[in-house]
Amino acid sequence: MPIINRIAGYIEDMKQWRRQLHKHPELLFDCHETSAFVVEKLKEFGVDEIHTGIAKTGVVVIIKGQNGGDGTVLGLRADMDALPMQENPGLEYASVYDGKMHACGHDGHTAMLLGAARYLAETRNFTGRVALIFQPAEEGGGGGELMVREGIMERFGITEVYALHTSIDADTGHFFTVPGAIMAAVDEFEIKVKGVGGHAASPQKTVDPLVAGVGIVTAMQTIISRNHDPMRDAVCSVTQFHAGTTSNVIAETAFINGTIRTFDEEDRLMILQRIKEVAAGQASAYNCEAEVVLTKGYPVTVNNPQKTEFAVEVAKEISGEAAVKNNAGKELGAEDFSYMLKERPGSFLFLGQGNGRGLHNTNFDFNDEASPYGASYFARLVEKAQPVVL
Ligand SMILES: [Zn+2]
Ligand SMILES: [Zn+2]
Repeated sequence: MPIINRIAGYIEDMKQWRRQLHKHPELLFDCHETSAFVVEKLKEFGVDEIHTGIAKTGVVVIIKGQNGGDGTVLGLRADMDALPMQENPGLEYASVYDGKMHACGHDGHTAMLLGAARYLAETRNFTGRVALIFQPAEEGGGGGELMVREGIMERFGITEVYALHTSIDADTGHFFTVPGAIMAAVDEFEIKVKGVGGHAASPQKTVDPLVAGVGIVTAMQTIISRNHDPMRDAVCSVTQFHAGTTSNVIAETAFINGTIRTFDEEDRLMILQRIKEVAAGQASAYNCEAEVVLTKGYPVTVNNPQKTEFAVEVAKEISGEAAVKNNAGKELGAEDFSYMLKERPGSFLFLGQGNGRGLHNTNFDFNDEASPYGASYFARLVEKAQPVVL
C-alpha cells in the first residue's frame, strides 16, 4: 500500500499548515501561537480529547477508534519548536519573527502529525485509542522530558511511542533507521582552573592556571584513547580554552569547555568521572584547583528492535521495500524523544526529503512533498498496531 489515498487528498492543506507554521516560528517552551494553531485544526478534525498546557505549551490529543483492542495505545510525537537563528530572505512564507526560524523541519513534523490526526479522526479504522503528542522545546530545554515527567505515559495509557525526523540524506519519501542506539547522548563540561595571578616576570610568586589548564587538556586526550573501549563510539572534544589578557600578566583563572557524545550510559558515566579525576589530578600537580561543572544533555535515543522492525514494515508498505533502510548508521546528533523511548518501547525514523540545505542552515526549508509519506506512516502505524478484527 503506497501513500494513503485519503491523505494524498490533504497534500495542499498540509502544505498550507506547514507554511503557516514556518512563517511563525517560536522557541523552546514559548510555542503559544503554534499550539493554538494545532488546537484549532484538531478541533476542526473532531478529535475526542485535547489536553493543553502539558510541559507549558505541549498538547496531547486523544482519538478514539472502535471498541475493543488489546490495550495497545500508540503515542505519536511531533516537535513544534524552532531555532534562534535568522532565516535568509527569499521564501514567500519566510519567518516574520526576527532571529527565529524553522530550520530543523519541526514545522513539517507538526503538519504531518496533523495530517495523520485528520485521517484518523475521519476514518477511525483502528481499535482503542491513539495519543498524538505535540511537544515544545526539542531544540534544548527538554520539552519531551518534561512531558514524560508530567506523566503523559501513565495519564493517557500510552504503551508504545513513535516519531519521525526529516533528513536530506535520503530521497523524498524514503525512510531510514537502525535498531538500538540511533542518536548520541550529549553532555557538556566546563572546567574552571583557579591559580594565583601576578607579574609575568615573577612566576615564582604566582600559581599559573594556564600551565595547569594545558596539562588538563593534554591529559584529557587519554580518556578516549586509554580508558575507553576502542570498539565503541564516543567523542570527548575540548572546544574552548581561555586564559590571560596580555603578555606580562599571569592569569588568575583558566577556562576550558567542550562536549561529550556517547551511545552507552556506562561509557558516558566513565568519561564524566574521568574528566573530574583528570582535572583534579592535573590541577593539584600544579598547585591549582579545578572546578568541574557537568551539564547533562539528552540521553541516547534507543530504538526498541521489535518495534523498529514493525515501524520498518509499515514504512515499507508506504514507500516500498527499496525505499526503507533498517541498517543506517548512528548519528552523533541528539533528540529529546530519547526520554519518551526510555519510558516506552518504540522507534525513531528519519524521513528523507531529498537534497537541499542541511538542518540548522539559514536556507533550510522542509520539503512539503515528504508530508504525505510521513502522515501515511503515522496513520498506518496505528491501523496496523491496533487493527479492527472483522
Ligand atoms: Zn534541530
Ligand atoms: Zn529537529
